[in-house]
Order: sequence, then C-alpha cells, then structure tokens
Amino acid sequence: MSTLKVPVLIVGGGGSGLAASVFLSGHGVDHLLVERRADTSRLPKAHYVNQRTMGIFRQHGLADDVAERAASPEQFGTVRWQTTLTGPGPLDGRVIHEMDGFGGGALRERYEAAGPALPAKLPQLRLEPVLRRHAEERNPGHVRFGHELVSLTENGDGEDVTAEIRCVETGGVTTVTARYVIAADAGRTVGPALGVRMEGLPALFDATTAYFSADLSAWWTGGSVITWFLNPYRPDLSSALIEMGPTWGKHCEEWGLHLPLAGIDRTDEKAVTGRIREVLGLPDLELTLHDVTSWSVEAVLAERYRHGRAFLVGDAAHRQPPAVGLGLNSGIQDAHNLAWKLAGVLSGRAGEDLLDTYEAERRPVGQANLGWAMSAAAHHQVVIDAAVGLGPHVPPERRTPAFFSYFSPTPVGAAQRARAAEIFATHRGECQALDVETGFAYEQGAVVPDGSRPPARAPLGDEYRPTTRPGHLLPHAWAERDGRRVSTHDLVGPDAGFVLITGADGEAWTEAAATAAEKLSVPVTVVRIGADGEGAEYTDADGTWARLRGTDGAGAGGALLVRPDQHVAWRAAGAAADPAEALTGALALVLGHRAP
Ligand SMILES: Cc1cc2nc3c(=O)[nH]c(=O)nc-3n(C[C@H](O)[C@H](O)[C@H](O)COP(=O)(O)OP(=O)(O)OC[C@H]3O[C@@H](n4cnc5c(N)ncnc54)[C@H](O)[C@@H]3O)c2cc1C
Repeated sequence: MSTLKVPVLIVGGGGSGLAASVFLSGHGVDHLLVERRADTSRLPKAHYVNQRTMGIFRQHGLADDVAERAASPEQFGTVRWQTTLTGPGPLDGRVIHEMDGFGGGALRERYEAAGPALPAKLPQLRLEPVLRRHAEERNPGHVRFGHELVSLTENGDGEDVTAEIRCVETGGVTTVTARYVIAADAGRTVGPALGVRMEGLPALFDATTAYFSADLSAWWTGGSVITWFLNPYRPDLSSALIEMGPTWGKHCEEWGLHLPLAGIDRTDEKAVTGRIREVLGLPDLELTLHDVTSWSVEAVLAERYRHGRAFLVGDAAHRQPPAVGLGLNSGIQDAHNLAWKLAGVLSGRAGEDLLDTYEAERRPVGQANLGWAMSAAAHHQVVIDAAVGLGPHVPPERRTPAFFSYFSPTPVGAAQRARAAEIFATHRGECQALDVETGFAYEQGAVVPDGSRPPARAPLGDEYRPTTRPGHLLPHAWAERDGRRVSTHDLVGPDAGFVLITGADGEAWTEAAATAAEKLSVPVTVVRIGADGEGAEYTDADGTWARLRGTDGAGAGGALLVRPDQHVAWRAAGAAADPAEALTGALALVLGHRAP
C-alpha cells in the first residue's frame, strides 16, 4: 500500500471534476484527481456550453480548444419543432415552428454584448477529452483515471481527511491524506459516505436516449441545437433529435435521439434500431447503434454543499432536468467559484471562513437553476403541445386533423399558427435565458454589499442587465491597449489574484492597492481604464465601459474590486476619504479575515 499527501483531492473526473482540476492548477494548487472509469465519457450527454462557462474557459485558456471542436451559434442557434424528419404523408417533414435560441440568429448581438466568448455546442463525449488533456498537462501524474475512492474518513484532529484510493485494474490501494476534498462524483460515493441529504424529487420522469451514427444529410438541414418531433399520427413516436458531431450541420455523423421505447427491450439492438427508423420515418436507414441509456430525471439539491472538509460540486450537489442545459454548466461554475477560495486558504492568504462562502454563494444559484429547469421542462411538456392544438383533452382521433388544421392555408390555420407563434415565444425562458446563464449574483458570501438593490430581472430570464453591484459578474466591455483589444474580463486572469479597476485619475486607488496588498499579503493588480487621451493604460474606445460602470453608481473617481472569478467583491462609488483603509477593510472582509 502506498501513501500520498496532497492539499486537495478531487473525486470524479467528469466535466465538473476535470474543470476543477484545471482551475486549481491555474491557481497553483497541488492536487490529485481520481476517476473510476478508464476514460472520459463514452456518451455525448450534455451538449450546450453556455456563455458564462465559455467565459470561464477563456479565462483558463481552454476556450480556443473547445471552440475549435464545437458548433458555433450560427451552426446550432435555433430550436425547431417539426412533425417528423421525413415521410410520405402530406404532414411529414413540416416545420411547426422555429425560434432563435442559445445565442443564435437575432440573439447574437445581445450575447456579444454580454461577454467576450459566445456559447458553444460540444457534447461531453468530445468536451471531456479536452478538459482531461489540459488537466493532465497542468498537473502531470496527478490526474488518475482508473482509480476510485473506496473510503473517506475525517481525521480526529479535524485537520485533514484520509481517503483510500483503489486502482481498478490492479486492486492496489493508495492511502491519500488531503486537507480538502472536492466531491465531483455525481453523488455516487462521497455523499453517501458523509450522509449528504438530497432534497427534492428523486424521480421526476424516465427518459431514454439512443446514440447512433447515420447519414441523415438527405433529410437534415442542420442549425438547431435540438429538433423536437411532434408526430401528427402517433404520439408514441414523438421524440427529439440532437446533433452530436464531430461535423456540424447537414453532414453531422453522430446523433442523440430522445425516444419512447415503451414495450421495447432497450438491450435488443434490432428492436431499438427498428424504433429509431420508425421514429425518423426512414424504414431503410443504415445506422450504427452505439448505446441506449435510460436515465431517471431528478430534481434534487444537496441540503448542504460543505460537509466538514468536503465540498460538493456539479451533479453531486444538484441534479435537474436537462432543459436550459444548466446541469454541467452549473457544475463547472461551482468548481470555478471554489477553486480560488481553496487557493486563498491553502496559501494562508485567506481565512477558513472564506470556504463557507462557497455554499452561501453557490447553493442559492443551484436552487434557482433547478427551479428554472423544472419550470422550463414543465412549460415544454404542457404549453408547447397545447400551442399546436394537442394535449390530454384532445382525443386520439382528433390528433391528425389538428395538424391539418394547423397547416391549412385558411384564415383559421393562419390564426392557429399566429397564436402558436405567440405561445412558442414564451418558451424563450428556456432557449434564450441569457440572464439565467450569466446574470446570477451572490447576495451573501465573499462580497461587501453596498446597500444597493439588484437591478430588476426580466421575468423570463432573457434580458441580462450588467451591473457593477457587488456579487455580480464584472460587466464586459472592450478596452484597448497598444492596439490590442481585450475584454474587461481578460483583465482578471486565472492567476491575477484580485484586480482593482479604476479610472485614469486613479492614483489614490493605486497607492491604496499597494497598501492593501502589503498588509494582507495578497496580490492586487490595478487596472486603469479611461477615455481616449486621458492617459490610462487601457482605453475605453467606444464608451461602453464608462456607460456600464456609471449606470448604477460606480462613477468617476471610484473603484471596483474584482475577485479572481470575475465577480465584483466591492465597489467605491467615488473618491474615498481614506482609500487605503476602505480597500484594505473590504479586502479583509472578502478574504474571510474576522478582523480587518
Ligand atoms: C442524456 C443526458 C443528457 C444531458 N444533457 C445535458 C445538457 O444538455 N446540458 C447540461 O448542462 N447537462 C446535461 N446533462 C447532465 C450532465 O450530463 C450532468 O449534469 C454532468 O455530467 C455532470 O457532470 P459531473 O462532472 O458533475 O458528473 P458526472 O459527469 O456524472 O461525473 C462524475 C464522475 O465521478 C466518477 N465517480 C463516481 N464515483 C467515484 C468514485 N468513488 N471514485 C472515483 N470516481 C468516481 C464517475 O465515474 C463519473 O465519471 C445530461 C445528462 C444526461 C444523462
């Protein structure tokens, strides 16, 4: 039996665990990641990487590698409802409705204004290998696939934990001592070992997804993140088709099909293949079936995100319907929130209290995301069907006539389509939810509230209103230096520590930052952004930064303290009587030092 001592042990090498490893390496934290499987996911699973996650990937040097393999919003940015893929009948292959979604089409401008990176579509099957490669390169020898956690015990002095890690192939056990554990195991081992209680609905509904390769180019037009088929003849053949790459669009090779398998044994390859052909309306389609998964959709949230020295991230902390694609995205964002805090505490620069802010900040976001996904899923199940004239009140014999009526070139048909279009538009809470993806904020935690109220949020979650209010994401604006364009987000690099953004006239804040950094032994980088000709090192070329900074009170002469995760920690609306005292006090509070 061998032994190993590391500051942080990550259990689980799915998207959340691998991302946590990359982020910890970015902060210079030594750690060990163990993953039970021999390799990354063989199932595509989550496929939407939202804008905030792409922003985080940009910060950690992953975005280019992800974007290179992913579909861009022009390639996936619509959601389509169709009768069937194809078929001989007059109702086959008809588009019921199509709307821009997830940063595509007319949404692009809004997403471009919200952040420096656009959303992407890359299923876990292709995303996880990118994350794994970066995790391994940045932490050589300490990202171990084929190794599983078998036991976890907090040591008597409460100073660390002991974990037994078993090599799946040899059975050899390594005893690992770690100060902290990141449970990224989707709740499979650490949660049960620590008695984590999951609140909510553990079995909402069952879903089945088939993964297969086929050439659908003769019938597929591409462009949609998901295409829902509302079968006009048989409700039991309604389904949803998703491109899984590696080529995007018409010539996509691999597919995920959420399909009903009632009465079919999912291990019977021939029967499943037959059902796929039936659902797609292609009785002679040549296809290769890779896998069929049945998964129970849950809506559960961990009662607590911190259990002693263990922190739950990703599916270990929250599991929800896939609507809005918040599952994996939230997991990666959990890890991002936690990584800099662990780095701060392990380096001795922050107090232990900082770690409690992980739950205070991320659990409310997890709860909100879960509620949002539930509501979006319910909306789709009930309201969208009704929009087309379907629903439990419509007897089976009225189903096909309802579709004929929907497509009929009559005033009634036109009215029905117009009515449906208005109803479909209410579904933007699922597929245009920019504010849900980006506008979440931390009301309590490692922030110093300034007494202001948050900006009103759009009830359907589709309008993101950037603000410099503490707890919110730093507003994105483009600034220029030596002819190079950078986002305000780029000013907060993975190892930049805290960043103080001030104006061209920020000498007093520059001196204050030096004092605070010295007193608290924390790096604080000062960045000055000013109008052209004002002499600041970054130029606010188009005035966007001045507008965003000034909208709600952080005006000229003021300063913004930004955390390593690009959220605002504290702000001074204008010049302070004693900038050094104000900034040092704020930074000490954020770092969890009890007495500034
Ligand atoms: C069909 C499907 C479609 C989905 N679509 C979407 C979507 O579009 N968007 C979205 O955001 N989410 C989606 N999800 C959800 C998404 O896949 C999950 O939220 C995501 O995988 C969570 O990542 P994770 O890293 O937290 O957990 P996982 O990916 O489950 O990774 C946990 C890892 O921990 C490992 N592990 C467990 N126990 C141990 C142990 N004792 N020792 C070592 N390793 C261990 C497991 O082997 C596993 O690899 C979908 C899920 C499914 C099933």
